[in-house]
Amino acid sequence: MTKKAFRAESKRLLDLMINSIYTHREIFLRELISNSSDAIDKIYYRALTDESLKFDKDSYFIKIIPDKSNRTLKLIDTGIGMTKEELEENLGIIAKSGSLAFKSENELKDGYDIIGQFGVGFYSAFMVADKVTVISKSPDSDKAWKWESEGAEGYMIEEAEKTDPGTEILLHIKENTEEENFDDYLEEYRLRSIVKKYSDFIRYPIKMDVYTSKKKEDSDEYDTIVEEQTINSMVPIWRKNKSDLSQEDYDNFYSEKHYGFDKPLKHIHFTVDGAISYRALLFIPETKPFDYYTKEYEKGLELYSSGVMIMNKCPDLVPDYFGFVKGLVDSEDLSLNISREILQHDRQLKLIAKNIKNKIKSELLSLLENDREKYESFYESFGRQLKFGVYSDFGTNKEELKDLMMFKSSKEKKYATLKEYVERMPEDQKFIYYASGDSIDKIDKSPQIEAVLDKGYEFLYFTEEIDEFAINVLMSYSDKEFRSVAGKDTGIEPADKALDEKVKEESADLLNDMKELLKDKVSDVKLSTKLRKHPVCLSSEGELTIEMEKVLNTMPD
Ligand code: ADP
Ligand code: MG
Repeated sequence: MTKKAFRAESKRLLDLMINSIYTHREIFLRELISNSSDAIDKIYYRALTDESLKFDKDSYFIKIIPDKSNRTLKLIDTGIGMTKEELEENLGIIAKSGSLAFKSENELKDGYDIIGQFGVGFYSAFMVADKVTVISKSPDSDKAWKWESEGAEGYMIEEAEKTDPGTEILLHIKENTEEENFDDYLEEYRLRSIVKKYSDFIRYPIKMDVYTSKKKEDSDEYDTIVEEQTINSMVPIWRKNKSDLSQEDYDNFYSEKHYGFDKPLKHIHFTVDGAISYRALLFIPETKPFDYYTKEYEKGLELYSSGVMIMNKCPDLVPDYFGFVKGLVDSEDLSLNISREILQHDRQLKLIAKNIKNKIKSELLSLLENDREKYESFYESFGRQLKFGVYSDFGTNKEELKDLMMFKSSKEKKYATLKEYVERMPEDQKFIYYASGDSIDKIDKSPQIEAVLDKGYEFLYFTEEIDEFAINVLMSYSDKEFRSVAGKDTGIEPADKALDEKVKEESADLLNDMKELLKDKVSDVKLSTKLRKHPVCLSSEGELTIEMEKVLNTMPD
């Protein structure tokens, strides 16, 4: 067995690789499993034209075998394997990807999800292992070969025993250090959770022996039972046909993914084929997460590339104002960077994000139209978010969001959209009226609403702090401006102008006396034409209403 040296630059690259490309050590398993999946794809492809290879789908698998006593982790696959030359090329030359070459040689189109392309993933094994042994057999060679390396120093290659095509990778797991507990990578539960996290939708079964102990009958002794289990789900739900899926399937997926403790209010499952193709499965939650309106809440969708998870929470896929949406996007068209953790071009991401935004909007509008009850329950949870959306970013999103907004209205105290309000306006009503206050009850007691109601007009209750701020940004809806019932210019004429003038003259002295008395508390005392049953009300003059001033006064400087 002769020892061959890596070329110098390869050595440096390997060090770099092992120490700096990846953020999480655990992805070594994702990389090795991806390679095995590619290898099975390749033998599958070969079997289509090669009579000597029988591709029986059931006999193709990946298996993970941890062995604590020997500190080894073995990965077996029944893929295409490698000849001696291929071992040298693919594992001896860093950044050489046999998979990339395979893809271009065979001009693979749809249906093949070859993952590899950079020719570095394999070496991530050295993040957890101090020695890696690969035994591989290709259908193109009678002999099997063993490749072995302890990292940057080089590798050895020699003949080995193996009859069926495929590859076995044996990792000798590093000893624990103070920072890292490598023992973890020998634990069944840990391996299982890494597989679930990154490789759940690899199309071939990933198997593992699961040991359970069972009490013997009529005795205190236990039997250890070994059962081989498939630990990945293989076909991701979003790649299945909608018609094959039930509401329950979606609900289960939602809770398996820990998107929320509630049931989703609505799921949006769709495929896009175009400049960039992708599938998406999105959920609108029913209730808001407990931390939703806090800084702790992180929005984002999961991002998959060909069934492998690339990013846990990709914030760029949803705008802040739809930050409540959960779910994932899977695309084969993403250009990934070398660690497969970040994307190379955000142009692709931007395109997807724009698409997704439009889709969410149209789904919400259709919910509003077709299932009012559901929409209102959605709005109870996330309406505030939409109003924040109108208010923030200098109002750039207001056009996008205005049709999704609702407020409780004085008509039956029910939610009304702005469209509904405007459509119900009598012909002589010029403005959209609103009244601000802490609650509907309090507003109902306010003297300010009398004039509007007296005219038979409807007004909207603004009971959340954000309401008035959002409306100030929106300014108008369908050419109708918003006016506070408490504002100066409500456009409602006094009932009797002549009488008003007369009263004004007669009460000038009284008003002056009042003003003098209250001079520390109010800036002016005026006669009002708004009141009907109440004798007096408070009002503000400037741009801000009293309610807005209250909010601003509570904000830190
Ligand atoms: P990539 O997967 O991006 O090509 P890797 O470093 O992960 O890069 O793997 C390098 C190459 O080694 C692959 O392209 C493939 O040709 C070969 N290879 C790795 N693992 C296996 C395997 N289990 N079976 C067959 N070939 C493999
Ligand atoms: Mg790879």
